[in-house]
Amino acid sequence: MSDLISALGEAGLDPVTDPDILAAHSWDHAGLVPPGRAVALVRARSTEAVSATLRIASASGTPVVPQGARTGLAGAATAVDGAILLDLSPMDRILSIDPVNRFAVCQPGVLNAAITHAAAEYGLRYSPDPGSWQISTIGGNIATAAGGMCCVKYGTTPEYVLGLEVVLASGEVMRCGRRTAKGVAGYDLVRLFCGSEGTLGVITEATVKLSPVPAERLSLAAVFDTTADAGRAVTAIMASGAQPSLLELIDNVHLRALEALRPMGLPTEAAALLLAASDANPVAELTAIERLCEEAGAAEVFRATDAEEADALLESRRNAYHAMERLGTVLVDDVAVPRSRLAEALDGVQAAAERHGVVIGVIAHAGDGNLHPNIVVHPEDPASLAAGRAAFDEILDMALAMGGTITGEHGVGMLKRDWLAKELDPVNLSVQRRVKDALDPLGILNPGKVLAR
Ligand SMILES: Cc1cc2nc3c(=O)[nH]c(=O)nc-3n(C[C@H](O)[C@H](O)[C@H](O)COP(=O)(O)OP(=O)(O)OC[C@H]3O[C@@H](n4cnc5c(N)ncnc54)[C@H](O)[C@@H]3O)c2cc1C
Repeated sequence: MSDLISALGEAGLDPVTDPDILAAHSWDHAGLVPPGRAVALVRARSTEAVSATLRIASASGTPVVPQGARTGLAGAATAVDGAILLDLSPMDRILSIDPVNRFAVCQPGVLNAAITHAAAEYGLRYSPDPGSWQISTIGGNIATAAGGMCCVKYGTTPEYVLGLEVVLASGEVMRCGRRTAKGVAGYDLVRLFCGSEGTLGVITEATVKLSPVPAERLSLAAVFDTTADAGRAVTAIMASGAQPSLLELIDNVHLRALEALRPMGLPTEAAALLLAASDANPVAELTAIERLCEEAGAAEVFRATDAEEADALLESRRNAYHAMERLGTVLVDDVAVPRSRLAEALDGVQAAAERHGVVIGVIAHAGDGNLHPNIVVHPEDPASLAAGRAAFDEILDMALAMGGTITGEHGVGMLKRDWLAKELDPVNLSVQRRVKDALDPLGILNPGKVLAR
């Protein structure tokens, strides 16, 4: 180990070995994923530093765990035993913005929100907006193929990544993708790295697509007496051809937790609140959405009177996870089902909560059929932990049985590693292993994440 630390030091990488600092950097936001013991933390400040770290790691067979802001919810950025933690957050510069060709070139540690703030000067924005947009990095967003609130209309992160600079496990630096509006030369390696969770290479630069900021946006909130009615409203809205720019569901458990966190007059008696927004011909579109909510059984529908009120509602949705953390340790599930089966899935989650005697709150990127059943457990109580885990598994099984997926946007990480084989067929799984072996033959990049070995 001392040889490794000396090699990192001699390369000018200033490895940190203080056990308290290492321990503090060993977690992401996934509850109940125990970290291993890292041996060093390298704070990367350049592509050359990343390359040098990986060359040294390859020579010594040392695992490397790339880390952005560690807001991940699947244990993908969690330390493994003997690893170098490679912190990309110091690489936080926006290198250029091209308003004509509509892209931004960023280092990996740039925060998602910083791109939109910088692009605003040109009337542009970076569209994918995970709930963590103010605290998560573009490198982490790409490595997890992050989704978000406006993805129901604008799509997820991979649709916005034009090009990448990636350092491979060997330390070689590769560029892939393009800066043009079109381009199909060779295999699409950009897509391969999207959602690869730091297991195939380390992203050191990203060229991401910018889009015009919509001229206006209006929103509404519909109150429902059952979550299944809210689910049916979502199905009706999506079937109608409407294109809401946001369609989010907050259930009763979250409404109460949010109101306790910061009182703002949320309807704490409602079973669910559906938030919808429209940014194209919004008056007409929201009128149609309001009617569909009422037909599905909405008890009340409120239009946000101004942008401030709309933003406050959206902000409450973004705080949902923190509000739940006050109830206990949150085991965050992240399943996606066909939208047409959303109401059924919401009922299924409720049934799992009752069967296992646990509190489960659901927030959902409802228009995407993407549910986050947040399961509250008290880890000091083995019965609570076992019940929470059983409910977690039952929800994954339910999603697969509905033709859905075990993860809509948070990724596999360590949390769902053992579930991958239940979703992918054996040939697919074998191809995934072969891709991993081709790019990382020594298996040093984020081992034990995504794939089970
Ligand atoms: C309050 C809250 C709300 C959230 N809302 C959403 C949401 O709406 N949608 C959503 O999709 N997620 C959401 N998340 C989850 C999380 O924010 C995302 O997964 C985010 O993309 C992680 O970014 P990060 O910078 O924190 O990455 P990290 O957590 O540090 O890392 C995530 C993964 O990416 C890898 N990685 C990081 N940087 C690099 C790099 N430069 N090169 C290669 N691999 C790298 C890591 O190894 C790890 O596998 C939320 C999390 C929180 C805490």
